[in-house]
Amino acid sequence: PRLANQIAAGEVVERPASVLKELVENCLDAGADQIDIELEAGGVKLLRVRDNGCGIDPEDLPLALARHATSKILTLDDLEGVASLGFRGEALASISSVSRLELITSTDDSGKGWRVVAEGRDMQPQVTPAPHPQGTSLIVRDLFFNTPARRKFLRTERTEFSHLEEVFRRLALSRPDVGFSLKHQGKLVHQLPAVTADQDAAAAQDASMQRIARLLGREFMDQSLVVDSEASGIRLHGWVGLPVYARAQADRQYFFVNGRVVRDKLVAHAIRQAYQDVLFGGRHPVFVLHLEVDPQVVDVNVHPTKHEVRFRDGRWVHDFIFSALHKRLSGALI
Ligand code: ADP
Ligand code: MG
Repeated sequence: PRLANQIAAGEVVERPASVLKELVENCLDAGADQIDIELEAGGVKLLRVRDNGCGIDPEDLPLALARHATSKILTLDDLEGVASLGFRGEALASISSVSRLELITSTDDSGKGWRVVAEGRDMQPQVTPAPHPQGTSLIVRDLFFNTPARRKFLRTERTEFSHLEEVFRRLALSRPDVGFSLKHQGKLVHQLPAVTADQDAAAAQDASMQRIARLLGREFMDQSLVVDSEASGIRLHGWVGLPVYARAQADRQYFFVNGRVVRDKLVAHAIRQAYQDVLFGGRHPVFVLHLEVDPQVVDVNVHPTKHEVRFRDGRWVHDFIFSALHKRLSGALI
């Protein structure tokens, strides 16, 4: 079974950035509104993710690390319109098979919690008491220490860090309502306060602009338009770069469906068409867009890592996105 684990690990655990994605998605699934990340040596030496979510019951701790154990799907019906980011129960099992993993968690504010460690091959999880505020800390050390072949594929710390930062950027853009911080080598790289519901609309708008400016640069803020369009059962909001701000590479395109990162042909086509119609060369538009639709009309779990979606009525979604952007962009040119 160990061998199977290590092979399967390759599917979700390609590099430190894929570990970070899985860990942060778990925090979001746990309902956290603050997520703090610490990295060392491009995430290979240390990757620590701490959240203030629901925590894990001590009885469930060994299960959390077991393959195909998930707390997120109770019935087959749940698969329809599933709201959680994970539901396969594979990530922690895979990660623990190729690292030294430590998990400390608490389900309440007593200050008391539980700790479990798993190290590569010998994984009989031992649960012991350990102090922790409500939430969970996942600490992953020495990634790929027992899989030299995989370790060889890692690039320089700097390159791994840039992959990690891109994952961070996507997740932080996907959930403005969650506070994030990121440290690398003890240095604070990002500190992003949550945009909270009790802020008024102007304050909330300001906070999300701050976040985008920090993640994508002031220039994007200065060169983009606010989008907010709604029709019955569908809303598109966010920022689109002015055509003059287009880039040579498609590296600044962020699209979220119900808070989830999505890369989708139909969506990309609608956006490209809108830009092309309103005067646009062969360069790539820059955007951060959130689409909100009834979860029943979209199937987001087509593939765990490919970020695809399947809309019940693709044409309707396509045309909505196209006309929302078209209107906004052509308005800006007058
Ligand atoms: P999945 O997310 O597909 O369920 P994972 O392997 O990522 O599978 O996680 C296994 C289980 O561990 C989850 O179903 C959840 O119950 C628990 N878990 C993992 N991380 C956290 C966290 N940060 N907070 C609360 N529970 C967690
Ligand atoms: Mg998960």
